[in-house]
Amino acid sequence: MFDAPAKAMPGVVRTHNAAVVLHQLRLHAPLSRADLAKRIGLNRSTVSSIVAQLLHAGLIHETAFQTDKLGRPGLSLAINPLGGCAVGVEIDAAGVRVFLTDFVANTVWSRRIRLGEGEPQETYLHCAEEMVRQALFQAQVQGLRVLGIGVALPGLVDVHEGELRYAPSLHWHDIPLRTRWSQRFGLPVLIENHANAAALGEFYFGIGQNVPNFLYIGAGTTMGGGIVINGELCRGRGGFAGQMGHMTLDPNGLRCSCGRQGCWETLVGPRQVVEQYKMRSSYADQVLHEEGDESCFAQIVHAAEAGDLAALAVMQEMGHYLGVGIANLVNIFNPQLVVLGGHYSLAHETVIPVIKETIKQHSLFPMRTALSVLPSQRGVDDAILGAVALVLDDRMRAPV
Ligand SMILES: [Zn+2]
Repeated sequence: MFDAPAKAMPGVVRTHNAAVVLHQLRLHAPLSRADLAKRIGLNRSTVSSIVAQLLHAGLIHETAFQTDKLGRPGLSLAINPLGGCAVGVEIDAAGVRVFLTDFVANTVWSRRIRLGEGEPQETYLHCAEEMVRQALFQAQVQGLRVLGIGVALPGLVDVHEGELRYAPSLHWHDIPLRTRWSQRFGLPVLIENHANAAALGEFYFGIGQNVPNFLYIGAGTTMGGGIVINGELCRGRGGFAGQMGHMTLDPNGLRCSCGRQGCWETLVGPRQVVEQYKMRSSYADQVLHEEGDESCFAQIVHAAEAGDLAALAVMQEMGHYLGVGIANLVNIFNPQLVVLGGHYSLAHETVIPVIKETIKQHSLFPMRTALSVLPSQRGVDDAILGAVALVLDDRMRAPV
C-alpha cells in the first residue's frame, strides 16, 4: 500500500522499485530473485542490484535454499525481522495498549492499561506516553532500532495533519498528536482511525492478505469499518472515509454517541448489545460479572454459545442488523471478502450464518456470488497491528 512517485527520476525510480520489491516480499515471501523479476516485470540484473541494496540496508535477508521448477537451487529472500522495530499504540475508551514489534510485526513487548470512562484526556495521553517510553526503553535494552510510532485512534483522524479531529466515544476534539509525540519522542509518528488501522492489520498480517477488495467491520468499544479497494485503503479526501458505524439505518432510531439518530452503531455496537441483553435477560446480573462493555460483550457471546436464549436472541438480532448494513456496503463496493473483526470475531459462530442469510436477502445477486464472510485472524489485535503497519509502510516506501 504505497503510492508511485508522481515524477520518475533515476533516484526516484530506484526508490520506487526497491519499495515494490519490499512490498512483494512483504505479501508473498519467501521469493527468489527470479520470482521477484517475474512478479514485478523487471529484468533479473535490475532486481539483483535492488536486492543487493536492500540486503546491505538490512531490510531483507536470504533464507533457506529452494529449488525452482527446473530443479535449480537458489536462495530465497524474505523481510529481515531485524530490519527495524515499530511501536504500535491503540487508544480507545477502554484504555491504552502498546506493542513493540520487529520488522515483520512479531510482538517483542506489550502492555495494556485499562482506564475507566470519564478519565480526563490528559490521563489517557500521559498513560500512553509512559508506555511508549517503556517500549522505547525495551528496544534500547535489546539493541533494536525504532523506526517510528503508529497510533490507532477512535473517530475522525486527519492523517495528513496527524490530528485527531473528533472522537465521539471519548468526547475528544482536535488533538495534534503527531506534533506532540514527534517532539516528545523524536521519531516519526503516524496516526490512523481505529477501524482503518484494523483493515490494514488484516491486509498485511491477517485474513485480508492477498485480497485486493474487502470490507472490514469491527467492534472495539464502538463499531466501525475500513474499505480496501484494489489493494489500497480507501481514506477519502480528508482521510475520514469508512465511518460506517454512523451510516443511518433507522432515521427514527436511538440516539448515537455522535449526536444523531439511528446510526448503524445504535443497532449493533457492543454497548447497545449489552444494553439489549440487560433488558431481556433475568439473569443478566449473574452473567455479566465484569466491568466494561467489551468484557460484557464477550460474556454474552459465551452465554449464547452455552444456550442462554436471551443472549442468543440478542446475538442473532445483532447478526441481522450487521447483515443489513453489510448488504448495503456489498451492493456499493462489490468486495470478495467481508472480515468480521475485533470483538465481533468472538461471536462469529453465532452471527455469521445470520449475516450470510441477511446479505442474501438484501444484496443484488451477482454481488454475493463468491463473497466470503469470515472472522478476522488477528481478533482484537488487528487495529494495533495496523498501527504497526503504518510505521513499516513508512519505512518501506523509501527503503534506499
Ligand atoms: Zn452516529
